[in-house]
Amino acid sequence: MNPERIIGIDIDGVITDETHINDNIWHDALCNYLGYEIERVKDSYYFDEAYDLSLEIINDFLEKNIATIYANARLAVGARETINYLYDKGFEIHLITAREPEFKELTREWLDNNGLLYTSLYHEEDKAPLAVKKRISLFLEDNAYNTEAMVSKGIPVLLFDKFHNRHIRENKDIIRVSDWTEARKHIQKFYSL
Ligand SMILES: [Mg+2]
Repeated sequence: MNPERIIGIDIDGVITDETHINDNIWHDALCNYLGYEIERVKDSYYFDEAYDLSLEIINDFLEKNIATIYANARLAVGARETINYLYDKGFEIHLITAREPEFKELTREWLDNNGLLYTSLYHEEDKAPLAVKKRISLFLEDNAYNTEAMVSKGIPVLLFDKFHNRHIRENKDIIRVSDWTEARKHIQKFYSL
């Protein structure tokens, strides 16, 4: 029997393009904020570690820049085509992001402006319990913690390859993908499309 056509998708790092480590919207904004070109010193998910800056500086930077960064994020190549293709095939598409709820309107607008079709949008940091509740059968994620939490609840994950999730090992429930072309192939196979 094929899995139910209910898919969960993260936004930042999955639907948005953050491919280039030293040439992305977060990095550019940080350099602008600091007033000089800074190098990443560590492959960490956390900016303070990644750039060896104090949490105070990072928090001030985020407070002043995060809304603009979200509003101007670029769509990952192939994301819209695949998501809308699934929507047209009758999939329930639940976008689950860890962004703060105050950015819900901004996020909705960004999704609309980029022509993405979806069923619902949730702002939720602890994603796995919600994924279970929505009966999600496959999740697209780049965050290591959420990936392990999903798998522990029996939900397989397509893990978008990022420097900060390289310590996660692939297994039958975790498949690492480098882009939406690869993701689409796995989705088609998983749901027998
Ligand atoms: Mg993410």
